[in-house]
Amino acid sequence: MGGGGGGHDPFDIFQSFFGGGGSSRGRRQRRGEDVIHPLKVYLEDLYNGTSKKLSLSRSIICSKCAGLGQKSVASLKCPGCQGSGMKVSIRHLGPSMIQQMQHPCNECKGTEETINDKDRCTQCKGEKVVQEKKVLEVIVEKGMQNGQRITFPGEADEAVATHHHRDIVFALQQKEHPKFKHKGDYLFFEHNLSLVEAPCGFHFVLTHLDGRHLLIKSQPGDMDDWQTHSPQILSILPFLGVA
Ligand SMILES: [Zn+2]
Ligand SMILES: [Zn+2]
Repeated sequence: MGGGGGGHDPFDIFQSFFGGGGSSRGRRQRRGEDVIHPLKVYLEDLYNGTSKKLSLSRSIICSKCAGLGQKSVASLKCPGCQGSGMKVSIRHLGPSMIQQMQHPCNECKGTEETINDKDRCTQCKGEKVVQEKKVLEVIVEKGMQNGQRITFPGEADEAVATHHHRDIVFALQQKEHPKFKHKGDYLFFEHNLSLVEAPCGFHFVLTHLDGRHLLIKSQPGDMDDWQTHSPQILSILPFLGVA
């Protein structure tokens, strides 16, 4: 209010038209146990579509020991605590009085399992899982939006307890474009006019995100409505469905 002067930002107009609060950026969602990776993309990538090859490392259950961590299928149960992780010691306090005390097992440190060194799986060194390198090709489809997610079901780490592979999710993060802004189904292009261009008509060539050249022009007098503002124009182009 009442700031006056130039520097009127056409994107403010667009914000008030579309009710954008601009607060969606900081929102991060966590869903279950999925592994979410941000994936930086250019606006051109979203407009034209692209694909990116990413190499990731994930842990999978050791094939040699089937996730046991040892060669034999004998029980892993700690002999010290019978797999409870706790030991009970009994103290005699008197002829008819005993005290029972529970403490973490000193042999397995409370993990409930011990692996005999001789029996330890040589492939995973008793870790039960091994690291696997995997190359994923992420297809960014034409018209995808900033923040949109691309899911690879079952491509994340394999859980030892359940043998269940979690999903890998890529969340698209669009880098700022120097000329275009994108919101929903529209692209916005801001162009500063000279003081002469605004009243007298103008034309300029706009290079679109796919390399096309568009001629943007006006006739003298077209911009009369804009003369109360600083001479900027805002071109609104469809983001999807370009014929
Ligand atoms: Zn134990
Ligand atoms: Zn193993």
